[in-house]
Amino acid sequence: MNFLEKYREDFKEYDAMERDFIDDELIWQQLNKWENPSKDDVRRVLEKSARLVRLEPEEMAILIQTKDPEMLTEIYALAHKLKREIYGERIVFFAPLYVSDKCANDCVYCGYRCSNLKMHRKTLSMEEITREVEIMIGEGQKRLVMDAGEAPETGIDFICDCLKQIYSVKSKHGEIRRANLNCAPMSREEIRRLKEVGIGTFQVFQETYHHDTYRKVHPTGIKSHYRWRLYSQDRSLDAGADDVGIGALFGLYDWRFEAMGLLYHTMHLEEKYNGVGPHTISFPRIKFATGTPYALNPEYAVSDAEFKRLVAIIRLSVPYTGMILSARESAPLRREVIPLGISQIDAGSRIGVGGYQESAAANAMPDKEQFRLSDTRSLDEAIRETCETGDIPSLCTACYRKGRTGEHFMGIAKSGFVHNFCMPNAICTLKEYLLDYASPETKKAGEAAIQKYLPRISDVKTRQFVDQALRNLENGERDQYI
Ligand code: SF4
Ligand code: SF4
Repeated sequence: MNFLEKYREDFKEYDAMERDFIDDELIWQQLNKWENPSKDDVRRVLEKSARLVRLEPEEMAILIQTKDPEMLTEIYALAHKLKREIYGERIVFFAPLYVSDKCANDCVYCGYRCSNLKMHRKTLSMEEITREVEIMIGEGQKRLVMDAGEAPETGIDFICDCLKQIYSVKSKHGEIRRANLNCAPMSREEIRRLKEVGIGTFQVFQETYHHDTYRKVHPTGIKSHYRWRLYSQDRSLDAGADDVGIGALFGLYDWRFEAMGLLYHTMHLEEKYNGVGPHTISFPRIKFATGTPYALNPEYAVSDAEFKRLVAIIRLSVPYTGMILSARESAPLRREVIPLGISQIDAGSRIGVGGYQESAAANAMPDKEQFRLSDTRSLDEAIRETCETGDIPSLCTACYRKGRTGEHFMGIAKSGFVHNFCMPNAICTLKEYLLDYASPETKKAGEAAIQKYLPRISDVKTRQFVDQALRNLENGERDQYI
């Protein structure tokens, strides 16, 4: 079957819809209505957020539109508090694995787009994937997100083979324990196959929720179908996927609109799937990419100050959802923004296809990279710094493996109870990292972090578990979690 015809039948479901759940006009009406909210308006919304309740669009609009420095300070303070209440001080680490840069789409902002002749195209063989994964494991990674362009040769068979291959790699110190996927939208049947091979979170970013902009920046290919992409999380949940992630690429359209789009997407999923919203929200900004003039000067570029507001406002609007901050952002900006609500970051990332084998550092192979990374610290450096700044790094993959996914996960995340799993697991996985991979300086900083957080586990049984797990790790056992 012709590649572009692949989903022709599936598209009919969406072409027949009168409207989708993103109403561009309504979003602008809501933003315009609250152009100048009062302090009382803002504080009313903050009071609701403090109760860990997901906000309504007009409430998010109030937070977005306030320019009052005093209110911004209160927004940042509450975002910081909520992050602590739900997830504690832990930051989960992961790394991306790019398996193919071949793509039949022509997204104007992307280095992998088919019309970019400056890109050196490559799809990894299974042997090359094994080597990449061995290197990642050797650096201490336990959790990855697999990325691929959308091309005939990177369809569902290839993706399933890659995931199986990733999970099959066992190295001296362990294995990848959770493989998430960030790739093209799939049909329900394809999602069922992904579930069989043990996919973690299935992420599809809408890029932009604004219909006209979407059309402009996705001129051809399957990706030009807005609703096929918009409803990909629906198909995933219909087909039994446990966790889905959403995201927008900031810089394509007004950041205020995109933030509202993310909220509407969350509400749509919650309403339709018994309260199950997105497991994670991502909000990358457009970055330089080889042969991609659009990325040099995006029309709606988001400043650092706006980005910081965006992160805090998403945290307050959807308190229970994991928030991912990628290494596209610089280390100093990440330091500033992580306390405002971030629960996951990548480190030691290589985003060129074959990058872990070909290079010890990021940004060394621009003709194979989708964009350029700003934070190029190794995992060891990032873990050390996280300890030194008072947080605790985590390589935890426990919820997925314990069946705490979907509705179950939402229940413990919305109540903040998940914190009782996150901290013990952060301590255990950090200890494992320190024993197997850490440099002497990181070992020192990590042990200090463990000593700081261990006494804070107040539940007696949990404390006993962690004490025993730490002894087990010292004695050579691995993979301790609750
Ligand atoms: Fe292909 Fe994704 Fe890049 Fe678009 S953003 S060109 S779909 S890899
Ligand atoms: Fe994530 Fe669950 Fe581990 Fe917490 S306990 S870090 S939510 S996998």
